[in-house]
Amino acid sequence: AKETGKARCVVYSPLRSGPPEYDISLEAAMFQAVREGEFQLYYQPIVDTRTRQIQGFETLMRWKHPTLGMVPPVRFIPIAETNGLINLLGAWALKAACVQLKCFEEAARRSLYVSVNISPRQFRNDKFLDVLDDALAYSGLRGEQLVLEITEGTLMIDPAHAETILARMAERKARIAIDDFGTGYSSLAYLKRFPISVLKIDRAFIKDLPESLKDGAICNAVLDLARHLGLSVVAEGVETEPQLAFLEQRGCDYIQGYLTGKPMTSHVAMAALKEDKYA
Ligand code: C2E
Ligand code: CA
Ligand code: CA
Ligand code: CA
Repeated sequence: AKETGKARCVVYSPLRSGPPEYDISLEAAMFQAVREGEFQLYYQPIVDTRTRQIQGFETLMRWKHPTLGMVPPVRFIPIAETNGLINLLGAWALKAACVQLKCFEEAARRSLYVSVNISPRQFRNDKFLDVLDDALAYSGLRGEQLVLEITEGTLMIDPAHAETILARMAERKARIAIDDFGTGYSSLAYLKRFPISVLKIDRAFIKDLPESLKDGAICNAVLDLARHLGLSVVAEGVETEPQLAFLEQRGCDYIQGYLTGKPMTSHVAMAALKEDKYA
């Protein structure tokens, strides 16, 4: 990085190659991006498996850098998680998602919900419940229209603290979804301990359906478990009709994936809802 030409390469290379190691130039660009308003929320439909009607949306963050182009969340979320910027970004996302859902409901003329990813650091932040209350109050959304997606790992860092936070969320009627269910290392005991409402089956168990007997068995087991515990299930990353058929037959109520809608801008989501075009 002695010449200007090489210094520029430092900025470009992390997006093109290699493992997502901590990257200072990308971090600097992120602070700039916050000031410039380069972050955006996309919305992916969560649909009823039988009717394919949109029930809600998961919000997924996007970063459109003027020269780097689309920086995927797997690159920037870990950085934001390390430097704490996730608290700012996450608070913005939660509020923006709640406000947007109000607009979606007006277009659809029916009740919908929004599902927002909460990172471990955000979940453990002192201000998290204030951020949640602010988003609900500002948007006028009811707590039951909000689902917060967390991973098993988030719960397990400090289970006692998690229990307190989840109890407070339950007071607000906000629901908890376990994201990437089945990919963590924890025991199932936490399903008993915590007030959880939704399990999201990770795409890893969906992608080889219906051919893979092992994945089929895992999905069946998760669906049985959920049924007995009174939880709802969302299958993630559904891309094909045979996958959907398998899941419908096994009684999976909700799916999310490219088959029924890729993550889209609020504008496109709005159009889909207005036409009542079922994804
Ligand atoms: P996730 O929460 O598990 O989100 C699902 C990911 O799967 C998304 O990737 C989505 O675009 C992708 N996906 C959905 N359907 C399909 C499909 O049919 N096929 C395939 N191949 N992929 C599908 P994305 O948007 O790149 O996000 C990656 C991860 O970044 C998310 O995984 C989540 O962990 C994190 N993330 C994204 N937005 C946020 C956010 O606002 N806050 C936080 N804390 N994390 C976020
Ligand atoms: Ca998620
Ligand atoms: Ca997931
Ligand atoms: Ca995932």
